[in-house]
Amino acid sequence: MKTNIQGLTAEEFDALMKAQGEPAYRARQLFQWVHQKLVTDFEAMTNFSKVQRERFTSLWEVRHLGIEAVEQSKTSPTRKYLFKLPDGEGVESVLMIFENRLSACVSTQAGCAYGCVFCASGLFGLKRNLECWEILDQVYSMQRNATERISNIVFMGTGEPLANYDNTLKTIRLLNNPNGLGIGMRHMTVSTVGNVPMILKLADEGHPIRLAVSLHAPNDELRDKLMPVNKKYKIGELLEACRTYQSKVKRRMTFEYTLIDNVNDSPSLAHQLVNLLRGFRCHVNLIPLNPMDEYKGKAPSRNRVMAFQAILEEARIPVTVREERGQDITAACGQLRRRMMKGA
Ligand code: SAH
Repeated sequence: MKTNIQGLTAEEFDALMKAQGEPAYRARQLFQWVHQKLVTDFEAMTNFSKVQRERFTSLWEVRHLGIEAVEQSKTSPTRKYLFKLPDGEGVESVLMIFENRLSACVSTQAGCAYGCVFCASGLFGLKRNLECWEILDQVYSMQRNATERISNIVFMGTGEPLANYDNTLKTIRLLNNPNGLGIGMRHMTVSTVGNVPMILKLADEGHPIRLAVSLHAPNDELRDKLMPVNKKYKIGELLEACRTYQSKVKRRMTFEYTLIDNVNDSPSLAHQLVNLLRGFRCHVNLIPLNPMDEYKGKAPSRNRVMAFQAILEEARIPVTVREERGQDITAACGQLRRRMMKGA
């Protein structure tokens, strides 16, 4: 069987080429073809000789994801991709086009083990971790299809990135490599359900990666009901880990708060949130719930969202309400993979 070289690091490329008796600069050339020019066919790698190209083709492959479906939202410049893996698993990614940047939202696991009650990703539990190449090629496949450069990456698709820690980190480093796409670590966001030990581990890497924490409730009683992970790591412990992250990484972090009508969107909960986040250098992202059949919650009215936002603003906490992007194509939150799994 051919060796898959997609997702290998520069050091691994060096070793491959060395084993072929090739000099180090050849490894760098190959790395650039794969990670910068995003070429998957050795025949197109024109600075190698015909003999070399044939040898590489016989030994290696640059595996890439098959695009199962692409949908363009009619209401916003958002494109949704569904990729199919050889074992039948589905992976979803979203490309969001903003005025001056392209932001790619990628998945790190097939399914999810955490079971937050309002999220479609956990409905079928965790199937498996995605391999590094399977995370990486979501970005590469979308980039091959885009005219502008992807400038931002958010690890906010299906799954918990910090529960697939090594492959997520390896992907981040490859995306950051100047001989690859060269996307700044500052332009990458890892979103976590609140996996405390892994937040601390990420803090120790010393990379300026932006951390987003899914909070969704300002007290343990409510968070316990929405997010089973809270039974393991309480809010106090979670925020302590966030403080440590901030002191080591020195970046403003994000708290995500999905607003659910009459569940976690009252003014008094907004005040509790203000007290909880006092002294944090943070930004709060309010996300009106994307409804799904399996959960009875609804998105709050526009007025309730604005009232919640106003309380944070009065306390001078930077806050934005996430634009509803691509709802018409169920681009959010595991909903399109769910549709595939149900065969709809
Ligand atoms: N596991 C990671 C990343 C994936 S979820 C995490 O928990 O952060 C990305 C964000 O979408 C999270 O904040 C998640 O809580 C939110 N989300 C999930 N389902 C949603 C829904 N139905 N409506 C609105 N936001 C949702």
